[in-house]
Amino acid sequence: MDYIIGIDVGTTSTKALLYDLNGKIYGKSNKGYKLYQTLPDMAEEDPEDIFNATLQAIQEVIAKANLEDGRVVAISWSAQQHSLIALDDNFNPLTRTFTWADNRPEKYVAEYKQNGKGMEMYRRTGLPIHPMGPVYKLLWLKNERADIFNKTAYWVGIKEYIIWRYTNELKEEISMAAATGLLNIKSLKWDDEILREVGITKNQLPELVQPTYKIKGIRPEYAKVMGLDEDVYFVMGATDGALSTIGVGAIKPGVLAINIGTSAAVRSFSDKPAIDPKGRLYCYPIMEGKYLIGGPINNGGIIFSWAHDALFGAEKETAKLLKMDSFDMLTEIAKKVPAGSDGLIFHPYLGGERAPLWDANARGSFFGLNRSHTRAHMIRSVLEGIVFNLYSVTIALKEFTGEPKEILAAGGFVQSSLGRQMLADVYEHDVVIPESYESGSLAAMFLAKMSLGLENKLEDISKYIGSEKRYTPDETVYEKYRKLIPIYIRLSRELSSEYKNIADYQREFANTEKE
Ligand code: ADP
Repeated sequence: MDYIIGIDVGTTSTKALLYDLNGKIYGKSNKGYKLYQTLPDMAEEDPEDIFNATLQAIQEVIAKANLEDGRVVAISWSAQQHSLIALDDNFNPLTRTFTWADNRPEKYVAEYKQNGKGMEMYRRTGLPIHPMGPVYKLLWLKNERADIFNKTAYWVGIKEYIIWRYTNELKEEISMAAATGLLNIKSLKWDDEILREVGITKNQLPELVQPTYKIKGIRPEYAKVMGLDEDVYFVMGATDGALSTIGVGAIKPGVLAINIGTSAAVRSFSDKPAIDPKGRLYCYPIMEGKYLIGGPINNGGIIFSWAHDALFGAEKETAKLLKMDSFDMLTEIAKKVPAGSDGLIFHPYLGGERAPLWDANARGSFFGLNRSHTRAHMIRSVLEGIVFNLYSVTIALKEFTGEPKEILAAGGFVQSSLGRQMLADVYEHDVVIPESYESGSLAAMFLAKMSLGLENKLEDISKYIGSEKRYTPDETVYEKYRKLIPIYIRLSRELSSEYKNIADYQREFANTEKE
């Protein structure tokens, strides 16, 4: 029997899933790595750590499945967006990988917002004006790390680097290229004008290919240790954003995909480019006639995890003793409080925010506290704040997609029935939860099947997605949310003038350095 590995190189870990050609899962492996944050606004990872994580994950998933009766025919790749690595002439890294969360280019982002060049680049590429973008990381490196910038022979992202390590071929598929801010949204080629602006040339970038492009063969030394045939195919795959949208089946324009994992996103496919005059949304070409529009949100499940660790340490211990999932215990506590948390509002902007604020200085807050509020109110308002924030991004998205035809939701947060129902109530719309939990790897596997000529069109992924659960809005609840959400949105506008002041204060006086 033939198998395909769908592998997802995330920001915190790499997950590999082994599928047969019918989409049945035969094994999973997950390997984490360190995020370096020893300087303010820094968020780097070591490419060697990530490469080793992919190697171990693939090795482990194959070993565990004990494939006596078959072989892996393809490995297909999903990966984090916006990473950047400088390589020398021999393809050796001169830097770690700068992740999307590295905010050090902020000064150049502010300058490009001010002088209008940022908006012009957004119109040409679909990448919002934000330090996550490799284009801004290049400006920062050119101006502040000229020693590295001038020595760099090639600029790549983590997926391109890893595939090069395995295959000796340096290629980049268009969805990942779009997320660099260097790809012209109309021509689907590297944008000469922007390359000139940042001071690099096309020769320093990988050759552009389609997500279904496949490379045959792996360096023999890796084939051996990983238990792979030397003629295995490496399928380029796409960004995690594109693949997790495809993997829940949100392929037709107007179908909304919500993902709340560590971060969060709301996305929809469009058959033509959609550039937001206010610059709030990205628009990335993925493949022929398919553009992904949406808003990336920093503060998803990571905020629930923060509340879980910072406010509910005792419950965490109790859950351990009771052998209960501690997140489930907290959602049970939150259920005791009515929808709307009796008027307690939480803004989840603990790590700055991309959509909808695009402000790296944004900070969180509880608002409306009175003496009747308890920690149960606090945890419910944290969950509601995460969902309200997503909803406020969706308001911008709806200007392009119209009212959603369907809403599909995935990610760790929708493991809880409270989270699912909250989405339906806030959106006042049915919310469908597909069974396939690992949507990114599933879609990577599907792209490999397309690449091998075993499938023809993206829409056919639906047969691998499995059964769905539907959640319907509750009228008595959404009327409360209708009154609270406008306050939530107005409040974030009111607070925005103070975000920089408090962030500057924290940079000066608070010890935010983390190992
Ligand atoms: P990633 O994006 O890193 O793959 P996941 O999709 O696994 O993340 O989601 C992780 C998040 O899911 C955690 O940060 C946490 O907030 C949330 N989560 C984990 N378990 C539960 C649960 N039982 N109920 C609700 N939310 C949960």
